[in-house]
Amino acid sequence: MSKQSIETVLLIEDNFGDARLLREMFNEQGSHDIELTHVECISDAEKYLAERAVGIVLLDLGLPDVQGLEAVRRAHAAAPHIPLVVLSGLDDESMAVQALQVGAQDYLIKGQIAPRELLRALRYAIERKIIEETLFAEKERVQVTLDCISDAVICTDISGNITFLNLVAEKMTGWSLQETVGRPMAEAFRTVDITSRDPIPNSMERAVEQDRTGHLPLNCILIRRDGFEIHIEDSVGSIHDRQGQLTGAVIVFRDVSVARAMTQQMAYSAQHDFLTGLPNRLLLSDRVSQSIALARRHLCQVAVLFLDLDGLKHINDSLGHSIGDKLLQSIAKRLVNCVRAPDTVSRQGGDEFVVLLQEVQQAEDAAITARRVLQAVAEPHSIDQHDLHVTSSMGVSVYPDDGLDAETLIKNADTAMYQAKENGRQSYQFFRPAMNARAVEQHSIEEHLRCALERQELALHYQPKIDVKTRAITGAEALVRWTHPTRGSVAPAQFIPVVEDCGLILPVGGWVLREACAQARAWMDADLPVKSMAVNVSAIQFRDENFLEDLFAILSETGLDPRLLELELTESVLMKRVESTASILQTLRERGVQVAVDDFGTGYSSLSYLYKFPLDALKIDQSFVRQITTTPDETTIVSAIISMGRSLKLRVVAEGVETPEVLAFLQARECDEAQGYYFSHPVPAQQFARLLEAQ
Ligand code: C2E
Ligand code: MG
Ligand code: MG
Repeated sequence: MSKQSIETVLLIEDNFGDARLLREMFNEQGSHDIELTHVECISDAEKYLAERAVGIVLLDLGLPDVQGLEAVRRAHAAAPHIPLVVLSGLDDESMAVQALQVGAQDYLIKGQIAPRELLRALRYAIERKIIEETLFAEKERVQVTLDCISDAVICTDISGNITFLNLVAEKMTGWSLQETVGRPMAEAFRTVDITSRDPIPNSMERAVEQDRTGHLPLNCILIRRDGFEIHIEDSVGSIHDRQGQLTGAVIVFRDVSVARAMTQQMAYSAQHDFLTGLPNRLLLSDRVSQSIALARRHLCQVAVLFLDLDGLKHINDSLGHSIGDKLLQSIAKRLVNCVRAPDTVSRQGGDEFVVLLQEVQQAEDAAITARRVLQAVAEPHSIDQHDLHVTSSMGVSVYPDDGLDAETLIKNADTAMYQAKENGRQSYQFFRPAMNARAVEQHSIEEHLRCALERQELALHYQPKIDVKTRAITGAEALVRWTHPTRGSVAPAQFIPVVEDCGLILPVGGWVLREACAQARAWMDADLPVKSMAVNVSAIQFRDENFLEDLFAILSETGLDPRLLELELTESVLMKRVESTASILQTLRERGVQVAVDDFGTGYSSLSYLYKFPLDALKIDQSFVRQITTTPDETTIVSAIISMGRSLKLRVVAEGVETPEVLAFLQARECDEAQGYYFSHPVPAQQFARLLEAQ
């Protein structure tokens, strides 16, 4: 910009009289220090201005080389930043007014210029030029800023008509500035709620009404001119004039579609299982809570079915995880097809699924679905040319009987599932309160058992078996004992099932076998002859593919004659998988190992296996034996077993002999052997050795 003072003035005037008059006026005002340069035509002025700057230009509208507005334009073009005051005659005042539009700051009418007003007019012109320039710079900065930012901006006047749109706003609304200026805001800026689709009240109007900044509600969608929908977020402010009077509003908004989609995706992932797309643990728990709230209001029930697959691990191991994954997906689909729309199928992870049944009228409804689900899962799954079969076990809990909150319901369904597993595959089980205590107990035992072997908390006690006729000790039964660090001695009936459940039975069973064989061998070496050492073998141990191999390894390690070892198996163990049982028993027979049927009479009623299998002894369960003298029925059963054993050429051992009367009865029926507290409790090895010595 120029020097912005009246120190230098360029007068463009062809009339010498007018020029002299002006010069005199300056002098008259005592402005001798004002440097007045006089040129007579526009071209001279242009040359002059090209080289020097002046404080202000005074321009006559009738020059020899240019007249009127064109003179103004050229002068302005030659010095765009220098204030320009037009000199006109009275007759062309209207043109002087127009000159203000093309770059002049003011005009003076020749012949009417009062000397005192001249300087003041020039000063005002200079002042006005400064303001105009500043305003322009300001406006320019705002315009560029508005076009550069990535937010959309729309301004309205106080009646809500659009006054401005920046480039982004044009793009986002699909409307151009020209088309919308003066039109109501709602025409270019249509917003609806994402879920209800209700139009969102114009936030501009509110800002204007309440005269303060505000925001659109969340979940706001902008509908572009072509119908395309954009998630937006905005803020609105009101605009005021210098007096603080409201003049309009400005809304700034941005496209948050991507951010919102990402948030939604993240929220979805946090609540769904990656593999199957089913709700996960988190979402399930939420849904169960909601259903409980609903059920409370509608006075109905909610059922939770906890499903655990049997054999997924086997499929993963043998066919690979990708097949296992596809199987899980296939199961997920079937489960979803088994339930109604408002119900929820969720995957808890691994091979566990939970089904939530809403608004159940009676527990039997849950049972119907439970059976349907078990059936659906069990149908073969055709995956990558494999026909896969899986079965499952299911626990069911029902609100309000089995729990008042989501966590308890799910936990209890889980507990019931374990019971179902015990009952046999492909079954479901309703929760019963007694299960809980047992689960807690089992868990605590399990925790401690894991260290029991290392800490040498296990020991074997031996109970003698007596020849009923001679009363001599015929052998020992090894019975495991566990001294728990805080509970003291725990009975095998309490911990053996847990050991079986948690997979510890193999190491524990192996330890028992080795310990018992080593002990028998030690007695032999010490000349304390035992004719047999009986060891209890659990089902899992017996079914383990390495069972025979391990057994013979132990026999050869300990150097015990196989004929001195007797394995006690329960009826139920023998009855399952008859063929492999027969072959194992045959191998044992060939190697001389004896086999006794333990707890005989309590298991399956089919007796045909007694003929089929190579067996050596029957141990009559103590429940029959102990009641011999009190209950006539038991007496007949015991008599029958003894005579049956004899005809099958099996030794018969009576367990739980506590009284001389029972012994007398057994003697009369010619039972071979007896075992029980009447002779001795199970005792530690040293004590048993003394019993042997005493013979
Ligand atoms: P079982 O094989 O039938 O063992 C006989 C059980 O009856 C033993 O209980 C023994 O102490 C008890 N008993 C013996 N005589 C009498 C008597 O006159 N009256 C009464 N009331 N009871 C008598 P224990 O030692 O508590 O063992 C319980 C069960 O735990 C055993 O039943 C067996 O099935 C299992 N068990 C014990 N040790 C082992 C083991 O090392 N491995 C496996 N798999 N199971 C074992
Ligand atoms: Mg036994
Ligand atoms: Mg027994």
